[in-house]
Amino acid sequence: MMKIMDTHCDALLKLQLRKRGTFFGMEPLDYRTSEEIDTNLIRLKTGGVKVQFFAIFIEPEVPFDEKWQHALEQVNLFYTEIIDKNPEVKHIKKWEDIDDLKDGEIGAVLTLEGADAFGNDLVKLRHLYRLGVLSIGLTWNNANLCADGAGEPRGGGLTLLGKEVVKLNNEHRVYTDVAHSTVKGFWDMLELADYPIASHSNARAICDHPRNLYDDQIEKMIEKNGIIHVVFNPPFIREDSETATITDLVRHIEHISSLGGVKNIGFGSDFDGISTFVTNLENAAQYQNLINELLTKFSEEEVRGFAYQNFLDKRPK
Ligand SMILES: [Zn+2]
Repeated sequence: MMKIMDTHCDALLKLQLRKRGTFFGMEPLDYRTSEEIDTNLIRLKTGGVKVQFFAIFIEPEVPFDEKWQHALEQVNLFYTEIIDKNPEVKHIKKWEDIDDLKDGEIGAVLTLEGADAFGNDLVKLRHLYRLGVLSIGLTWNNANLCADGAGEPRGGGLTLLGKEVVKLNNEHRVYTDVAHSTVKGFWDMLELADYPIASHSNARAICDHPRNLYDDQIEKMIEKNGIIHVVFNPPFIREDSETATITDLVRHIEHISSLGGVKNIGFGSDFDGISTFVTNLENAAQYQNLINELLTKFSEEEVRGFAYQNFLDKRPK
């Protein structure tokens, strides 16, 4: 079974919403086994996932003065439900920790999707670095104090604060994630970021969606030694269909490769954040179906790169 690195999932939001629901009599979710969690621990093991990124994500409807509390609740659940209860799951606190993972161990990386969590408070951001956040996307789809998100019709780039955050990411060897950026924000970030990642985005030439990257953006990512992790959300894979097949997804990988990105490609499923699925790639347990199809079109070494090694080679030194 080929080792997998997955740079985006939203399991923490699911865990948090159900934890809050316990106040109203709901049962909390068991991260290890819950069928409701696409990336539960059993499924990660079944699919060969060796390192899984977990995003802190605050829904835009949460009032400003409650966002930090939501972020802390998700960090707390990352520690209590994912790390503390599962001895085989190791918290990756710095990039070198990945090298220490033993057979049977799984690395868990904490990330942030949207600077909304810390507002304009860089002390809070510094706490997030201390808590182990290793990748930061400035926005989700909405605008915040750092930047506009991909869903904002205004399409603005980075604010002064946003630029400051990218510089702090560089100092801390933390990725700046362009996945939810506007086009203008993307170019602002690529000018400043030492460590750019698209943690869950596809190619816009194949599927023209604002969450995907144009060819010149992909080429810039390659030039800056960045990594592009393709996302398994059907609306970002095909424009003309509600569903998608693994073959449809592989088309994005072929396209990015044709632009010279064969060493820059990875996977960022967006499991637990998506509601429709690629057929036969519906949760982390099915990851090897993607590997098997890739092996019919790429060399084994190339597929190992997509699955795991490209990220290891390009991670911040
Ligand atoms: Zn996302």
